[in-house]
Amino acid sequence: MSYYSPSIEKLIEGFERLPSIGHKTAIRLAFHILNAREEEVTEFINSITNAKANLKYCSKCYNISDTDPCPICASPKREQNLICVVEDVKDVIAMERTHEFKGTYHVLHGSISPMNGIGPDEIKIKELLARIQQNPDIKEVVIATNPKVEGEATAMYISKLLKPLGVKVTRIAHGIPIRRRFGIYR
Ligand code: ZN
Repeated sequence: MSYYSPSIEKLIEGFERLPSIGHKTAIRLAFHILNAREEEVTEFINSITNAKANLKYCSKCYNISDTDPCPICASPKREQNLICVVEDVKDVIAMERTHEFKGTYHVLHGSISPMNGIGPDEIKIKELLARIQQNPDIKEVVIATNPKVEGEATAMYISKLLKPLGVKVTRIAHGIPIRRRFGIYR
């Protein structure tokens, strides 16, 4: 039985669904909201609604962007013939922070995971294939999926798929500074 009213209970449940939020933290956040000023709460709700409403994907690389194509795909300073394949938008941010990668990205939005019912069609692999087929200038694809089972399976699947297209496919371990990889091999 719950000690809270149904509306508070619902708010707590909402917070609990967020990543890294346990039950105690959810309760703390719920009561923080309940004690906050009306305007503060409205502003917070609006920022969530706006972020979600303005959310767009770049039609080339599927990164989250306010513009299409995204600034990276549109930049003449980036090597448009080099694609780094990553699982997540967060991986792009991590890579950009290093300032070491000058190519473009392709965001898969997940990895192949038969255990969780995620097959190749559930992530942006078809889109990667189409992008490469439509752009003969693309010379190299670097696969930077994570080194866990799913990431490896995804990397293997993509390498096999791209082989007949004649692009150079390289695999780098997720999280390894890209400079090391390019510093040695380029
Ligand atoms: Zn893009």
